Amino acid sequence: MNRENMLSNPKETIRVIQENNFTFRKNYGQNFLIDSHVIDKIVAAAEIDDTTEVLEIGPGIGTLTQYLAESAKSVTAVEIDDKLIPILEKTLAGYDNVRIVHGDILKQDINALFEGRRFKIVANLPYYITTPIIMSLLEDRVPADSITVMIQKEVAERMQASPGTKDYGALSLAVQYYCEPYLAANVPPNCFMPRPNVGSAVIRLAIRDNPPVEVKDEKLMFKLIRAAFNQRRKTLANAIKNFEGLSYSREEVETALTEIGLDVRVRGEALSLEEFAALSNKL
Ligand code: SAM
Repeated sequence: MNRENMLSNPKETIRVIQENNFTFRKNYGQNFLIDSHVIDKIVAAAEIDDTTEVLEIGPGIGTLTQYLAESAKSVTAVEIDDKLIPILEKTLAGYDNVRIVHGDILKQDINALFEGRRFKIVANLPYYITTPIIMSLLEDRVPADSITVMIQKEVAERMQASPGTKDYGALSLAVQYYCEPYLAANVPPNCFMPRPNVGSAVIRLAIRDNPPVEVKDEKLMFKLIRAAFNQRRKTLANAIKNFEGLSYSREEVETALTEIGLDVRVRGEALSLEEFAALSNKL
């Protein structure tokens, strides 16, 4: 399709919005892309070709979807806003490889949508539920190869952060346990309509076949991580003691820390994923 006629041209986006009397819904995190270069970067980072099946979360009026449909084998686009479904049916009418699904991504049976076939996830995510969406995809171990998404820049930085930095936390550890993150681009607010009041970034999460560390009890490790960052300023042994149903005493945690070669007064923010795994295996 001629790019002038695509929705990435702001004039086209305005035309479609006005013709359909569409009003943006803030509570659905609606900030539509209006920059073809940014969309090219998303599609390139996602490494899509004509053999790729794509799951798009929140197609909006179909701006990114048009580009995905031109490169991919097929696109399944899940949109929550019922007002957008008739609009999508029109803006994507020229593509026979797009399937529009009306629903909440957090309630979809994603495996059923792909019937066991592998796929890649691509989205300009609604920022108000970025973390719940990504964590549910990872924890449910959906059979996707990668997740390439536009998210708030600050959240992208947290996903990539290393131990001991201010951005490092439970999200960094969870994302790095399941994926290898790669920051593909920083994106300013003027690439969206309406403009968000935060900076954005495109991040690619390549999903690992196997976690990089061996953990006997994943649930316990993530609970220790949550305890550690719930009370960042406490020593790890104090933070874990009596945290939400954990029954370890401070002394027990200190003994385990010593056995894995760490100082008893260490704080959680200093521990790497390997060290959290070692601690949970020890406990
Ligand atoms: N992909 C479009 C674009 O880039 O122009 C729109 C992106 S906009 C940031 C986020 C989209 O996700 C909106 O269309 C919004 O209605 C949709 N959305 C919000 N919450 C959702 C949910 N729980 N499930 C599916 N879609 C959702």
